[in-house]
Amino acid sequence: MIIQDVTPFILHVPVTGGQIADSTHSITHWGVVGAKITAQDGTEGFGFTGTHADLPSDRLIADCIRHCYAPLIVGASVFDIRALWMKMSRQPPVQWVGRAGITQLAIAALDTALWDLKCKILGQPLWQALGGRTSECLEAYNTDGGWLSLPIDKVVANCRRFVEEEGFRGVKIKIGLPDPREDLRRVRAVRAAIGPDIKLGIDGNGRWDLPTALRFAPAFSELELMWFEEPLWYDDVAGHAALARASSTPVALGEQLYTADAFEQFLSAGAVHYVQPDITRVGGITEWLQIADSCLSRRLPVAAHVGDMGQVHVHLAYHHPACEILEYIPWIRHCFAEPVEVRNGDYVLPAQPGAGTTILPQALSDYGVS
Ligand code: MG
Repeated sequence: MIIQDVTPFILHVPVTGGQIADSTHSITHWGVVGAKITAQDGTEGFGFTGTHADLPSDRLIADCIRHCYAPLIVGASVFDIRALWMKMSRQPPVQWVGRAGITQLAIAALDTALWDLKCKILGQPLWQALGGRTSECLEAYNTDGGWLSLPIDKVVANCRRFVEEEGFRGVKIKIGLPDPREDLRRVRAVRAAIGPDIKLGIDGNGRWDLPTALRFAPAFSELELMWFEEPLWYDDVAGHAALARASSTPVALGEQLYTADAFEQFLSAGAVHYVQPDITRVGGITEWLQIADSCLSRRLPVAAHVGDMGQVHVHLAYHHPACEILEYIPWIRHCFAEPVEVRNGDYVLPAQPGAGTTILPQALSDYGVS
């Protein structure tokens, strides 16, 4: 089956409550930037990356898709996904200007669209086309209530509601306020509200330095946290390795890493316990699988970051034996023909053919920008 057309798109979808913030980012919309790939029989595959809905940089991604990679794909076979991935990522003049950043986000969108297209032609959901599911259920944890922009009472109420009314068995809250002691107060308040049996993660979004993390490690140990996510600057391998050795709270990271090579540095240094690759950043499903396989060979769990808000990762997490839990943020699910669904704290196994990325025409007209 030959690829006939590649058309980029940009959506800006409002987030819950109008605006949210962590220690380093403040956003009002989630950017869904990607491409529709059409095969010669008219079948359409969709893929996208996730952004902070910044139109100038979103346009760079869309232009990269249109001008750098679409010409490499049109006319090729839908089924040559890995070969096309190599062709895109090794294209000499483009590789010269970017092996990470915008080029990798563009490849991520296209690789995902190719998988979606292939799975639709096969008539199978992605998890099935990859070789089937390896788990009976997939636990979800909720991130969409613990934003740093919310007052402590609201964070506590949100987490309590997730657990008591919605059935979640895990939540994650943001830290990284100017005074770390205030962070500790918030984490303690949430732990007291949800009790000792619920998983509780914290996420610093790279804000702290190593001395601060070491100083607060004993206090966090008492709270029995699921993990401390991105405690230090994203690329600091040695710092994370030192923290991982010194603290009894597991270290989680990976959402800001672009390549399997970057993950390899953290894995081989013992700098991460929960590995968080994101298909929207690591060049799509093809490279994500390679990273997850590396984690599996080291017996390290993969807990993907969901720049796709779980639409694709739910397939991968059901499929890959390194995965046991997946983040849940429901900002964009209404944009898709196959919206992700969590029931009693578990993700529902997708049934429709494809990768879960079919964007509804209504969403394109409601949220499309150019
Ligand atoms: Mg995070």
